[in-house]
Amino acid sequence: KARKRFGQNFLHDVGIIRRILREINPKPGQHLVEIGPGLGALTEELLAEAGALDAVELDRDLIPVLRTKFFRYEDNFRIHEADALKFDFSSLRQDERPLRIVGNLPYNISTPLIFHLLSFSGLISDMHFMLQNEVVDRLAAQPGENHYGRLGIMAQYYCRVEKLFLVPPGAFQPAPKVDSAIVRLTPYEQLPMVAKDVNRLQEVVRTAFSQRRKTLRNNLKPLIDAATLETLGIDPQLRPERLSLAEFIRISDAIAIGQQEEN
Ligand code: SAM
Repeated sequence: KARKRFGQNFLHDVGIIRRILREINPKPGQHLVEIGPGLGALTEELLAEAGALDAVELDRDLIPVLRTKFFRYEDNFRIHEADALKFDFSSLRQDERPLRIVGNLPYNISTPLIFHLLSFSGLISDMHFMLQNEVVDRLAAQPGENHYGRLGIMAQYYCRVEKLFLVPPGAFQPAPKVDSAIVRLTPYEQLPMVAKDVNRLQEVVRTAFSQRRKTLRNNLKPLIDAATLETLGIDPQLRPERLSLAEFIRISDAIAIGQQEEN
């Protein structure tokens, strides 16, 4: 019954569900948002604890199932039949309460969805996701590590990232082919490092990693020359995965300032 095209793997391991809920620790008065509730494996306990829950689900056949199952929470439960990738999460913010985002995400859309959610990070107090283990490793990766790249750098620009625990394929129905893991992203109230222009930073990081095996000098040629990199104290011969977030910000700020001077 699960649909592959919607990335449906339903959680059925009660021990894992409890552990996830313990990490989320929902409290009365909080405003939760669940992405892809599916058949409601996590929804039930979220609703039982939290003050309000908005759910965003793309599969229209699941909507009546969820409505029936949770009819007694009518006042506190709103379900949106929508694509989370295009969803305007700021529309859910009706008062001063920040949003707490939760989701056992469809793995085929997890990276673009995280980028989409980062653009709302000012409205969000935390996010707990079930993801493919490899994606969690990418989110948490540090310079020089295997999975270090654009996703981790941009997530760490906005958020503290904590890998919480592994979840084996057998916890789901049907079982996925890969291991999964739970991750917590906590947006900073005040960013520890601020780029002058975050779109520029995104562009620099994307361009720097356009070919992982090439040097910064080669990848960044369209944006900045090797001599300028050197004046910033950055070795142009390095591979992109050696550079810290602070160094990427330094490059992006230098480009932003250069452009200001041209104008
Ligand atoms: N939360 C449930 C659970 O843990 O058993 C279901 C998890 S399942 C991995 C992913 C869910 O996301 C499915 O219910 C699927 O229909 C839904 N989904 C897939 N693509 C979506 C999208 N673009 N926007 C919102 N929901 C989506």
